[in-house]
Amino acid sequence: MDKALLGDALARLDLPLRTLQPGHVWLVGAGPGDPGLLTLDALSALAQADALVHDALVSPEIVAVAAQAEKFYVGKRGGRLSIPQEEINALLVRLGRAGRKVVRLKGGHPYVFGRGGEEARALAQAGIACRVLAGITSAFGGLTSAGIPATMRGVNGAIILATGFAAVSDDRPDWAALARTGQPMVIYMGLTHMETTVADLIAGGLAPDMPAALIENATLPQERTVTATLATLVEAAERENIVSPALIVVGRIVALRAEGAP
Ligand code: SAH
Repeated sequence: MDKALLGDALARLDLPLRTLQPGHVWLVGAGPGDPGLLTLDALSALAQADALVHDALVSPEIVAVAAQAEKFYVGKRGGRLSIPQEEINALLVRLGRAGRKVVRLKGGHPYVFGRGGEEARALAQAGIACRVLAGITSAFGGLTSAGIPATMRGVNGAIILATGFAAVSDDRPDWAALARTGQPMVIYMGLTHMETTVADLIAGGLAPDMPAALIENATLPQERTVTATLATLVEAAERENIVSPALIVVGRIVALRAEGAP
């Protein structure tokens, strides 16, 4: 397709053009990876930023859009732990105070397991103007690219988004309670504690033969989907060597993939 057509369409669109003011910070969702899933607001933010703070979940092609911005990488380096959240908050405050036009770019949606809430609060407490721009969260981008409908009439009337990482903290989902709803769930950050999570879901009443899937690198060219059942999921992940970032999907919606997947 000719890119000029896109330019023409954009020119016809009555897009509210908001200016990223010096000293302001925008927390921007970049979507799950495919540049096509950026929002126009995110694109406009990238075009205006003079400081871009990003982590590993954001694709290099998307970071490269902000050609004019100084880049601050705050993700994991060579397997080492990520920069503590307080340091990221402090960096955002410092850049804001320095009068920079700051974009804090996050994978997916900033408010969905993205610690966007904490960053917005830290900025508010420091008196720095902040705006949060929604992005497509990886659950919905990933289900779609894997050919799994998030909802289907007659199959599910709700969908649960959960974190699999908060194994011991207060955020830890009550897996038995979630299992009792019978509704499908998409589990973020689920690989590390997958064995315990799966055991808790089965103990909570989910059928061991409930369809389940792993979606690795969703929406990226290297995306892989592995389907299994709840009981065979851990083994499937090991066999296929599934690595982060990946989503775990559990529920009858997974079985619909076979019927309608591209
Ligand atoms: N704010 C993000 C989530 C950040 S938590 C969002 O809205 O999507 C990080 C987790 O998100 C990863 O461990 C993984 O479970 C999931 N994730 C993010 N991008 C992904 C991708 N492209 N493919 C699969 N999982 C992804």
